[in-house]
Amino acid sequence: MVSYKELGLVNTVEMFKKAVAGGYAIPAFNFNNMEQMQAIIQACAETKSPVILQVSSGARKYANQTILRYMAEGAVQYAKELGWEHPQICLHLDHGDTFELCKSCVDMGFSSVMIDASSLPFEENIKLTKQVVEYAHKYDVTVEAELGVLAGVEDDVSAEESHYTKPEEVIEFATRSGCDSLAISIGTSHGAYKFKPEQCKVDPATGRLVPPPLAFDVLHEIEKKLPGFPIVLHGSSSVPQEEVDTINKYGGALKAAVGIPEEQLREAAKSAVCKINIDSDSRLAMTAAIRKVFAEKPAEFDPRKYLGPARDSMKKLYMHKIINVLGSAGKAE
Ligand SMILES: [Zn+2]
Repeated sequence: MVSYKELGLVNTVEMFKKAVAGGYAIPAFNFNNMEQMQAIIQACAETKSPVILQVSSGARKYANQTILRYMAEGAVQYAKELGWEHPQICLHLDHGDTFELCKSCVDMGFSSVMIDASSLPFEENIKLTKQVVEYAHKYDVTVEAELGVLAGVEDDVSAEESHYTKPEEVIEFATRSGCDSLAISIGTSHGAYKFKPEQCKVDPATGRLVPPPLAFDVLHEIEKKLPGFPIVLHGSSSVPQEEVDTINKYGGALKAAVGIPEEQLREAAKSAVCKINIDSDSRLAMTAAIRKVFAEKPAEFDPRKYLGPARDSMKKLYMHKIINVLGSAGKAE
């Protein structure tokens, strides 16, 4: 058993409290490899932004849970080396689906876990969430739960249709389960294809697809029921068109990829939404940068010559999100 406290990590209690009060959101970035982790930490150290490093089930399969945990420990030391004196870094399990998995993460040094039992009936969701909360809280590990269903595909998590969170259920759920934060469904969606073209309008000026707006009425209802309670948005990549265009220009084939407009995320960050999950955008930035090098320098075969530019491009993206979308810059001096 290793406590995250020995690793220099923090749970989400303080960061969420400040984020809700301050009207901004904490970035939750997924990571699967060294370059992504370095880009996240460089961006956060430079902007002094608190951050949640997320490990999904796909990341656990790809990179191994133990290795990712040691990378998070390394991330804390790396942040200090970069001159960030008091880094606020949380290591979080994204979409844990069983008690055993959540327990194994708590036991190996994660400071936060998500138990996603949102596909189960209401009572079973409460029961499983409560079981994880009771174990995690013994070790000061925070727990995110989910109520409602997001559409889209993310690693092993997928659903055809979304079901908005029902505001009338949130008080009972939060009280009985004891969760520390709640992921809700208000129209965000996993992956780079968040909406079908027929769900979107076409912007006459650019010819690009404009997705349906998030259900801010549902969010505000939930806020009224649970004042000050930390709310989480999953599936909140914006799918930057310039990255999609670069990928397609250099041989890619991304068709009609659509994300959540950044103005809407900025608005959400000012509310009780205090954690915004972004994964696809960094995948797009990485892929665009690598495709560009491959196209322009076909003789290049040193991985550092394409992973390096990919890392720089991801760092730029993370800094943009922190400064211009989430408002978390300078919140972890
Ligand atoms: Zn998610």
